[in-house]
Amino acid sequence: MNESIVLLPAMEKTSQKIVVLQGALNLLNSLRAYDEALEFAERIYALRGDTAGSYAACVGLANKVETNYMRGSNATARGLVPDAILACDANKNQFFSLIVKVYAAIDVIDSGEHTKGIATSLPLLKDFSTLSKDSDYLTQLEEALARAYLKTGNTERAEHYGLKAYQRAQSSRVLALQEKTSETMAAIKRAQGQLAAAIGYYDINLDLKKKVLDDQLHKNLAYQRVKFDTQDKANQMALLEQKNKNLNTEKALQQNEYQNLILLLTLGAVVLAILGAWLYNTLRLKNIFRVSAQVDGLTQVSNRSHFTASSHLAFSDPMRNVSLVLFDMDYFKKINDTYGHAAGDWVLKTVCATVKSELPKTTLLGRLGGEEFALCLPNVQHEDEARALAERCRAAIAAINTAPSGFDFAITASFGVATRNAHLTDSFEETLVQADKALYLSKNEGRNRVTVYQPSGKA
Ligand code: GH3
Ligand code: MG
Ligand code: MG
Repeated sequence: MNESIVLLPAMEKTSQKIVVLQGALNLLNSLRAYDEALEFAERIYALRGDTAGSYAACVGLANKVETNYMRGSNATARGLVPDAILACDANKNQFFSLIVKVYAAIDVIDSGEHTKGIATSLPLLKDFSTLSKDSDYLTQLEEALARAYLKTGNTERAEHYGLKAYQRAQSSRVLALQEKTSETMAAIKRAQGQLAAAIGYYDINLDLKKKVLDDQLHKNLAYQRVKFDTQDKANQMALLEQKNKNLNTEKALQQNEYQNLILLLTLGAVVLAILGAWLYNTLRLKNIFRVSAQVDGLTQVSNRSHFTASSHLAFSDPMRNVSLVLFDMDYFKKINDTYGHAAGDWVLKTVCATVKSELPKTTLLGRLGGEEFALCLPNVQHEDEARALAERCRAAIAAINTAPSGFDFAITASFGVATRNAHLTDSFEETLVQADKALYLSKNEGRNRVTVYQPSGKA
């Protein structure tokens, strides 16, 4: 019952809802849960809508009448009878109209108006018999009639209806009706003086009374259990729903955590990328600064300070023969003066590139200033090696084609070579002075030549 009720909102048709509510109401009535049954009657009645003579209005009111009579609220029931009959007649619902009338007739009999009750009941009995031959209402009406006849002294008619009701009740298997009709039959038989038969009915009645009580008890227990189970189920459902909600919340939280983690990782990656880019730029700049601090801007060879520092390193190893080759452009001022400063710059760059191409990898080329350059050969076997290299450079310079500068002229340079042999203590500075002396000799002796410093010689 409860399960069907739960489904009510999902039902579209009013007639389907009424069927479910009516089923519940019948069950409640059979359990003597009249207050709850009346609530269901009210729910049926509430479905009547605006239509006059609606099915819901008829069924709702008819049920109110029936339940009120069953619970013993006869006055209330009586008050509802006219409206119920009106509603059911308007609905052309003969069956429900008859039920209401049957209850009203029984009520008349129960309230002591036996003759009037008989007069009202007989036509109803006829109507009912054509409509439904085996109805509990018919049984109830016949039983009431039997009692009414009994009270008026017509035991024959009483027995007629009493027996009909009793037999119908037997076949209907409705315990309450069996019990009531057997009691009426016992009274009739007693009135007829058939005491044995009366005792027989009383025995049956006593047995049925017990059964009715048992049945009532079982039904009530079952009802309470179902009610409890349903409540328990509802509680479990609510609990499950709560758990589900919690799970969903947990899931959402985890999702959030996951998203936060991704966000954090992304943030980390971005920070790393920015740091990386910053580091790269810093290092690149540092390198640029470092290189620009070491390299001569015009010729791209080592500047004086870098050349000096690097040469010092080479000279610091006493096991090495280290040679220095100095060279100075010849009549460079004249080139500047004749072809312009730009041509002079071109010469300086071209000379450096040309000399570089002649050098082994370990040889350092530096610009000492103006048009004066130096080579440091950190690991020569013999000073002749330095002389030969100087000679190759000199020849290469002299062979430079100056046409790309826009002018045709000759370029030459004068060279001075000095070597600090291993196991000697001469420093870079001392050796440089010696090379300068040799260069001076080259200039003096006509330029475009190589002079090797001779310690005992003129240099
Ligand atoms: P010498 O053969 O005796 O060495 O004569 P020189 O003319 O080469 O020597 P001097 O020292 O009289 O002149 C060197 C000139 O080099 C003077 C200077 O203007 C020029 N010079 C120095 N640095 C640069 C430079 O970077 N670019 C240009 N175009 N000229 C420079
Ligand atoms: Mg010069
Ligand atoms: Mg010079």
